[in-house]
Amino acid sequence: MMDTLASASNRAGGAETSAQPPIVVDARNLTKTYHLGQTSVHALRGVTLTIHRGEFVAIMGPSGSGKSTFMNLLGCLDRPTAGEYRLMGALVSRMKPDQLADIRSQRLGFIFQGFNLLARASALKNVQLPMAYAGLSNETQRRRARKALELVGLGDRLDHRPAQLSGGQQQRVAIARALVNNPALILADEPTGNLDSRTSVEIMAILQDLNRRGVTIVLVTHEADIAAYARRQVAFRDGLIVRDEPVAQPRSAADELRAFRQPQSASLSQEGAAS
Ligand code: ADP
Repeated sequence: MMDTLASASNRAGGAETSAQPPIVVDARNLTKTYHLGQTSVHALRGVTLTIHRGEFVAIMGPSGSGKSTFMNLLGCLDRPTAGEYRLMGALVSRMKPDQLADIRSQRLGFIFQGFNLLARASALKNVQLPMAYAGLSNETQRRRARKALELVGLGDRLDHRPAQLSGGQQQRVAIARALVNNPALILADEPTGNLDSRTSVEIMAILQDLNRRGVTIVLVTHEADIAAYARRQVAFRDGLIVRDEPVAQPRSAADELRAFRQPQSASLSQEGAAS
């Protein structure tokens, strides 16, 4: 029944006959030039990229290749020198700073390397913050914040302040905060950069789980190990995209965590090898 309805509406949609999910990011020929005194730095030199709903994209590339500049544009923190950027169909590249601020708070969620939590606020308050701007009642804010924290496994840490949480837990608070307004896109900038490898896998497991639930994620990393959890990799060099391809078999963070938790199976196989 559902299938019949879906295909009927697809036919009715005319141009929308393909099964492609809607476009979230539509960036065309973006350039960004910084002027420092007499010199111009061409940080982006014509970047075109389309990202559909439900994708999990890793942005890679060496230092200075333009990753941060591109993320600042995607995140509506800055405007391109030239080119067009549409987010969910809205032409952001022409918007004024206050419109950009609205788009950021309504459509985007951010996760940073340094967590960027308010030190004196509880986990719950930190996650409520993005909703405060949306004018929701305090009760709704608390309920949604609690639910987001439960989703990242922190239902029992609502009243802890950042200093009372481990790095991995702080990053999970930041993920809950990024999620709470139901954004069209989550932008994660080196989210595991400050974490040990086991904790990094835990964070990647949460991001992969969210992505399976349909959340669109763009993650910047210079680590190939981390980019291997994504489903698509886009590599920058000298302000241009030099590679853009699907990951044939993304790493599964959940599987790796299970292996971490079962060290006895490793020692058993060693015994087997010894005998
Ligand atoms: P990445 O994130 O890949 O390390 P960036 O986007 O930070 O690369 O930088 C790309 C280029 O633009 C570099 O040459 C960098 O020095 C330059 N750049 C970045 N931001 C600025 C800025 N605000 N002013 C001047 N130059 C900048």
